[in-house]
Amino acid sequence: MNDNAVSDAVLGAQFLRHDEALSARSDMAHEPAVYRTLLESTRAIPWKIDWHTMQFEYIGPQIETLLGFAPSSWKTVQDWAERMHPDDRAQVVDFCVSQSKAGVDHEADYRALTKSGDYVWLRDVVHVVRDEHGAVQALVGFMFDISERKRTEEQVARLQRELEELSFKDGLTGTGNRRMFDIVLKREWETALADGAALSLVMIDIDFFKSYNDYYGHVQGDECLKRVGGILGEGLRRGDFLARFGGEEFVLVLPNTPADAAMRVAERCRNLIAEARIAHERSPYRQVVTASFGVGTIVPSHDIDPTGFVNLVDAQLYNAKDNGRDCIAAIDRPALRSR
Ligand code: GH3
Ligand code: MG
Ligand code: MG
Repeated sequence: MNDNAVSDAVLGAQFLRHDEALSARSDMAHEPAVYRTLLESTRAIPWKIDWHTMQFEYIGPQIETLLGFAPSSWKTVQDWAERMHPDDRAQVVDFCVSQSKAGVDHEADYRALTKSGDYVWLRDVVHVVRDEHGAVQALVGFMFDISERKRTEEQVARLQRELEELSFKDGLTGTGNRRMFDIVLKREWETALADGAALSLVMIDIDFFKSYNDYYGHVQGDECLKRVGGILGEGLRRGDFLARFGGEEFVLVLPNTPADAAMRVAERCRNLIAEARIAHERSPYRQVVTASFGVGTIVPSHDIDPTGFVNLVDAQLYNAKDNGRDCIAAIDRPALRSR
């Protein structure tokens, strides 16, 4: 056999197979039982509803395996609607009816009731069958069990929420983190700018914290940071925000807060830390943990940005340190020590 004869033989064989396939296909077209077997052996559940009577003409036997209700119990669209989670029903039924009326193929996800009273997430994929005049004649579709996919989606969404929460929280103290502070400050700055309202900041730095760590160790130092974070978070008003600015520094954002009220917040924080009497052997101030405070209030304008304001308040914190620590310094006020 030469090369051409070989390729003719191969082509011939291919054509033969192709012809055989075609004739098998045309046999199948005349064999509804084949289609029925195929439909009823898939995991998707086929169904058909007559549009005029709103009755099921057919529903695959797989429905009984999935939901427990026998095919014979699926008589009308009412049965379909009633076996739907009450929270999904109105929305899904309205959507499917309006799409069907408009003759539009569609799909809907909903929770279907099982005979044992549980719910299974289904996706119904619906095709609208029209007659030769274009009028809706029937709906045919497949129901798919998507509960596994929904479980995965819910798990992913929960993890996403947890991750988002974690990414805005300081891991040690549970207060807001620096990233969150930047976002909150920007948001409150813009709100105050629009409203012409006063915005206050209180910056807090624990005194002699290096020697606290040196004396008690870093683990105890971490515990101290957690306690101070907890104390500063006490008694905050709705809308006030506490973050760990970094290291042993915290910051309070106080929206709609004039200077005197911000000063009172700082004094309360200072008193609460004093009352906690956290031992600090190396502190010259009664051997307890203390902190220094910088306070500032501004009605935001376009002449200054949030970073400029933070720098002004930070400068007050340095003033408080320079004035001997354990005290409060505010913009336009001398350092205030109430011992
Ligand atoms: P001052 O009174 O001037 O504020 O002095 P200070 O010692 O508090 O300030 P300094 O900046 O010299 O030291 C800050 C210390 O805070 C040093 C660092 O080890 C400690 N620190 C920062 N972050 C953490 C932390 O997450 N855990 C612990 N345990 N210590 C921290
Ligand atoms: Mg510091
Ligand atoms: Mg310090």
